[in-house]
Amino acid sequence: SNKLSDKRILVIGLGRFGSSLALELVNHDWEVLGVDSNPRVVQVFGESLTHTVIADSTDDEALRQIGAAQFSRAVVAIGTHLEESILTTSQLVDLGVKDIWAKATSRRHGRILEQVGAHHVVLPEHDMGERVAHLVSGRMLDYVELEEGFSLIKTKAPQALIGRSLRETKVRQRFGITVVSVKRVGASFTYATEETVLHKGDVIVVAGRTKDVERFAENS
Ligand code: ADP
Repeated sequence: SNKLSDKRILVIGLGRFGSSLALELVNHDWEVLGVDSNPRVVQVFGESLTHTVIADSTDDEALRQIGAAQFSRAVVAIGTHLEESILTTSQLVDLGVKDIWAKATSRRHGRILEQVGAHHVVLPEHDMGERVAHLVSGRMLDYVELEEGFSLIKTKAPQALIGRSLRETKVRQRFGITVVSVKRVGASFTYATEETVLHKGDVIVVAGRTKDVERFAENS
């Protein structure tokens, strides 16, 4: 049970973030042990998660009793209670959990979680805020920053590129981006090739440096 390939996971904190994550994993056939210090919260998810336990995750004895050390993977989904989040993460590190994901509410919180030994830190509110900013202000239909400085976006085919192939319009040279997929009205996405000709109303998926995809979407 110490292999990262097993589909067992400990989810601590069943708030909005933790419960959504836990339920999604159960839907994908994961065995999820959900932990929360609030009995009412645990009761709500008692039927839908594989196992649930009422426990205070900052208490090392409680963590031992629920068998936290037997999990190779855990998520600390305590966001707003900074001290609890940091202490819990640190306890899981001490117990030797190999793959710890922790939710942070700010970059500073995230940095502390990394310092105590979290292997992955996620900033859902922060990331979603950035993402929605792109959707609100630009012509992007969707936006994902895959890593610092590199993004994948969904956008309408720009007027200037319509009617000619991607090779002819030289989008890669002109904008530094790659058109990955194209979706014609009423059809599904297909891979784009050099021969792909864009039509009015097409939706495209574009990959490239964040600055370049932003410039591309603005010009479109
Ligand atoms: P969200 O914003 O995702 O709803 P919250 O931070 O509001 O996240 O909720 C986190 C959950 O973690 C709450 O249900 C809370 O009861 C639980 N929690 C907080 N501290 C502890 C702790 N020490 N041990 C176990 N669960 C905790």
